[in-house]
Amino acid sequence: IRSFSTETTSTDQDANEEKVIGESKKKTFQAETRKLLDIVTHSLYSEKEVFVRELVSNASDALEKLRHSQLTDSKLDSGKPLEIHISVDEAKNTFTIQDFGIGMSEEEAISNLGTIARSGSKAFLENLKEEGNAGTTKDKIIGQFGVGFYSAFMVGSEIKVYTRSAQPGSKGYCWTSDGSGSYEIAEAENVAVGTKIVITLRDDCKDFAKEGTIEKIIKKYSNFVDYPVLLNNKKI
Ligand code: ADP
Ligand code: MG
Repeated sequence: IRSFSTETTSTDQDANEEKVIGESKKKTFQAETRKLLDIVTHSLYSEKEVFVRELVSNASDALEKLRHSQLTDSKLDSGKPLEIHISVDEAKNTFTIQDFGIGMSEEEAISNLGTIARSGSKAFLENLKEEGNAGTTKDKIIGQFGVGFYSAFMVGSEIKVYTRSAQPGSKGYCWTSDGSGSYEIAEAENVAVGTKIVITLRDDCKDFAKEGTIEKIIKKYSNFVDYPVLLNNKKI
């Protein structure tokens, strides 16, 4: 029986859509990360499109890690092609990137997305301390070092990361944050092996929900990507 409910959630709901099933744990970002996020979210940096390059590069790294691990461990498999799928939705104002790569366990999501381990971000913060002496601006530093995953917060008001490790028997998780100091993590069902990042775009960044805009950006960087990139199911 079809219901004529006006609730978008019930009419929109795909049977295969990811769904949080566990209790949500709220955690605060490490102090250094909070500082970085505060700068990233308030940045007037004009090259916001670099977030696409950063997320594609992470997806490519995840596929490479899976491919490499498979050479010695045949049990590791995402069951999906080694591809990067991007989709944009103007009505929902979202940008989504999915890879069928190595994925993350709960502990990995907490340590990799909640703390700053990467050298680029560390160098960024180091340079920030010396800012003034060098006469560099925060925005210049963002461009120079890149802020990796956190660059998604330049354009997103909310970021959801669905991830499931390629290790057999792993559960899926949903990590979510608005970039303002804390994040939540919960077990989720219907999560494919690999990682899917859903960005709800800020009002001033709605352009990144347009297929044409993203196609141009991907074409700029695609020479550096070793795996196929599909945009709204079409190969770029
Ligand atoms: P970097 O890529 O330099 O390590 P990032 O900030 O871009 O730094 O990403 C931080 C970490 O988060 C990565 O090192 C990786 O462990 C994890 N990560 C990010 N995106 C993905 C992804 N798509 N799949 C698996 N792990 C990811
Ligand atoms: Mg990266």
